[in-house]
Amino acid sequence: DYAVRIENVTKEYDDVVAVDDVSLNIRDEEFLTLLGPSGAGKTTLLHMIAGFTTPTSGDIHIDDEVVTNKPPYERNIGMVFQSMALFPHMTVAENIAFPLKMRRMEKVNRDERVQEMLDLIRLPEIADRDVSELSGGQQQRVAIARALSFKPSLLLLDEPLSSLDKKLREEMRHELLRIHRETNVTTVHVTHNQEEALTMADRMAVIQEGRIAQHAPTQELYAHPETAFVADFVGNTNMVYGTVVETDNPSCTVECTDSNLRIDCRTDVVGESVAEKDDVSVGIRFEDVRLGESISADNVFEATVSSVVFKGDMVNTTVQLDGTELEFKISDLNSDGNRVFERGDVVQVGWNGTDS
Ligand code: ADP
Ligand code: MG
Repeated sequence: DYAVRIENVTKEYDDVVAVDDVSLNIRDEEFLTLLGPSGAGKTTLLHMIAGFTTPTSGDIHIDDEVVTNKPPYERNIGMVFQSMALFPHMTVAENIAFPLKMRRMEKVNRDERVQEMLDLIRLPEIADRDVSELSGGQQQRVAIARALSFKPSLLLLDEPLSSLDKKLREEMRHELLRIHRETNVTTVHVTHNQEEALTMADRMAVIQEGRIAQHAPTQELYAHPETAFVADFVGNTNMVYGTVVETDNPSCTVECTDSNLRIDCRTDVVGESVAEKDDVSVGIRFEDVRLGESISADNVFEATVSSVVFKGDMVNTTVQLDGTELEFKISDLNSDGNRVFERGDVVQVGWNGTDS
């Protein structure tokens, strides 16, 4: 069953189409991530679900009720933004109780619910603190507690972790997932960070220029991106452009535009077939490329290492192929014996057709 159904929703501002004919169903209890670059229309879509923005056309259903023109307070939705926007002159308890007060819940019940929420965010002792005394991570937890205190049927998170530093951000990803597991509240999470999306989402919708480029379970979307944009935006991918010179569907040979390299590819991974002379883009994931002195794969080329960048848990190696400008970034974790190569080394680079 669906918690939210978005039907052909468009939002236009003067000369900008912020959201362009989007249809999207959100399942009960799932954690859905909307991933896309800045300006793609993520916030606009979220605000239409929340009721802060009215669609130019199309309809939004929440729990099988049309809410398209209903104001936010008539929708049972909790929301957390990047700027946490806690009420600064209130205590933690007053912040969390605020939505309950608005809903005229009695004080004794409010107090009980506040304590439940503080237990949920694992900060049971901070009820009487001023929010200004809290760390960034604690404030973020309180914002989540406030968004959930009135048991909304839907939780909307707009870049909730962007203002936190890297370490705290990673900790809070797990914290949000734990809270989702414990409450089972249907969650729509917006981010421009692909790693955050991959870590957190059950399902993912990639948004590009106001449209859904692809919507699928996270691992499926990662393994089978349907467009070059999705392949490039989700995961670390080398994009190569060329023309199909030979087909034996689902296999084909692509001659690169910028060089004479010929690459064997498989098109069944994206469920499409190609014809000769088609212009195509080929995406090859960093982790699918192997580097070594002698490797076997569908595509093997001699290459020269042009840069080696140490990244702590991996080494990004860039090579040049065939004296051309074609470059591949490769995680050296996949190279023979995890050997780290040096700039200038001549190596073999290879990957399988099924990986492109
Ligand atoms: P995202 O959240 O993905 O970064 P937004 O939804 O904020 O994207 O914006 C999508 C597009 O709509 C952008 O081009 C933005 O400039 C435009 N936009 C958003 N809100 C307004 C508004 N209130 N008035 C005019 N243009 C807007
Ligand atoms: Mg935004």
